[in-house]
Amino acid sequence: MKLAKRVQALTPSTTLAITAKAKELKAQGLDIIGLGAGEPDYNTPAHIIEAAVQSMNEGQTKYTPSAGLPKLKEAIIAKLKKDQGLDYTPSEIIVGTGAKHALYTLFQAILDEGDEVIVPTPYWVSYPEQIKLAEGTPVYVEGKEENQYKITKEQLEAAITDRTKAIIINSPSNPTGMLYTKEELQALGEVCLAHDILIVSDEIYEKLVYGGAQHVSIAQLSPQLKEQTIIINGVSKSHSMTGWRIGYAVGNEAIIKAMTNLASHSTSNPTTTAQYGAIAAYEGTQAPVEEMRQAFESRLNTIHAKLVEIPGVTCIKPQGAFYLFPNVKEAAKLTGYSNVDDFVKALLEEALVAVIPGSGFGAPDNIRLSYATSLEQLEKAVERIHTFVTNKL
Ligand code: PLP
Repeated sequence: MKLAKRVQALTPSTTLAITAKAKELKAQGLDIIGLGAGEPDYNTPAHIIEAAVQSMNEGQTKYTPSAGLPKLKEAIIAKLKKDQGLDYTPSEIIVGTGAKHALYTLFQAILDEGDEVIVPTPYWVSYPEQIKLAEGTPVYVEGKEENQYKITKEQLEAAITDRTKAIIINSPSNPTGMLYTKEELQALGEVCLAHDILIVSDEIYEKLVYGGAQHVSIAQLSPQLKEQTIIINGVSKSHSMTGWRIGYAVGNEAIIKAMTNLASHSTSNPTTTAQYGAIAAYEGTQAPVEEMRQAFESRLNTIHAKLVEIPGVTCIKPQGAFYLFPNVKEAAKLTGYSNVDDFVKALLEEALVAVIPGSGFGAPDNIRLSYATSLEQLEKAVERIHTFVTNKL
């Protein structure tokens, strides 16, 4: 049977391709170190699991409203007030099955064929595909290395057309780990307001910031920018709950209502038990979040210092998330590879280290290393990369 055009056009995930290859080599008995992980290597805190189990024992195992349990919405409202100083009402929130599906539903709700969405590069792999699945067109704007992989107001202005509907701002960023400052957001926000461009602010890594960096939501900067912004967030990365699939979108009531209509015909509601877990995540102690953040920061400091000692590798020190995004173009050249994809393949086959090539993120000179794995494994992995490069010089 012929498949629909929309799935034929989907780009296969480079992340999955390298992970599959790594698994295959592992199954052959090779000691592969995988640095591809997109999730914290910590268990979900016990009090969250207990709350979810308790809800099931108490019979909370049926459908909930499509946009989520009122009690979870209240917990999200309290979180946004406490962390961002922002006021929202329940009708401005939809809880989805992960931030990923909240984003998917958002693009389905706002895009018509040919509508353009500005996607700063390097980008999280799902943005372009989700935009295309909604018949929209991703318009890439390069976040240059010399500007810490962030885009400027001038670049944004130059990319706007009469079809521009939205822009994605992902801070802290996956894959670069960079954060936009308040001033940078203010500058971009002014352009968005002037051209009536919806701001999609993906803040999923908000809690994972380092070196004294401060996460700022663009919605905090003025009432106008709050109106113009849909915040995307969730508990996956902050509370190590990736498998629970709870994320949300917050903002303009009409957009949230349209998304809720879509959800009512697709997911019906996010899993009830997971919603009870998310309530506990927000209402309970935040100590495990901070504990995890500190562990990530300590790994980052150790590993970054070792990584930049490798010949041909440069790496701006990330301020957030749990990824390093070094430029290895020179290292690939020095070791005889014409492109970074081939270098990555050789790293896996010869150094037994699995990293993700930057090409999948729109940055072909880079690789992404996740430090959501033990320090011991990380040190071993970086050592292997170092030896691999040095031996081929
Ligand atoms: N946004 C970014 C930038 C991500 O990296 C991820 C997960 O990798 C998500 C959203 C999706 O998170 P969730 O697990 O809530 O769907």
